[in-house]
Amino acid sequence: MTYIIGLTGGIGSGKSAAAHLFADLGATLVDTDIIAHELTGPGGAAMPALRLAFGESVAAADGRLDRAAMRARVFSDPAAKAQLEAILHPRIRSLSAERCAAASGPYAVLVVPLLVESADYAKRVQRIAVVDCTEETQVRRVMARSGLSADEVARIMAAQASRQARLAVADDVIDNDGPLASLAPQVAALHRHYLALAGAI
Ligand code: ADP
Repeated sequence: MTYIIGLTGGIGSGKSAAAHLFADLGATLVDTDIIAHELTGPGGAAMPALRLAFGESVAAADGRLDRAAMRARVFSDPAAKAQLEAILHPRIRSLSAERCAAASGPYAVLVVPLLVESADYAKRVQRIAVVDCTEETQVRRVMARSGLSADEVARIMAAQASRQARLAVADDVIDNDGPLASLAPQVAALHRHYLALAGAI
């Protein structure tokens, strides 16, 4: 059975940056955000169900999900949001489980932005690693990356678990409030620990 590390953190905390460092060291990366994009890309496995549920207007000309149209659709319609999640979430869950099971590396890093909020994922991992930084740092990074306003970022963060809630369930904490250069040595140390836990050394 694959040893699975659940990697999580708030938006802009540096999950992707940390995940890529684990992958560089040989861990198998399974990212639920990437899977969501695959499922909703041109020819994506969720597109037929989404077209059926929401109509052709949610598909862009090349067949991918028109994310802006979908966002507008679910923004003030909880039933539509629930329907969207009912289509996507089971597919993301089963594909990510399949890929973890088929991992070729010594262990798998399963990146789940909302791991703390989702009991199902929390149950599936042997260990939880949290990428942590202050909320001010999160806001600054997300604004720089996306061009969203501070208010918009704050709204996204308010819908996620709090920093304290994430830290409370963390087996390992990766401090990413400092420069990017501080991330690699922390990931390298955890990698050695995970190799041992996975029985690979
Ligand atoms: P997440 O996947 O958690 O949303 P990312 O890894 O995408 O976060 O990082 C968010 C943004 O902040 C990206 O633009 C990334 O390049 C940048 N970033 C991540 N870590 C650092 C750091 N330690 N110092 C400066 N910028 C960082």
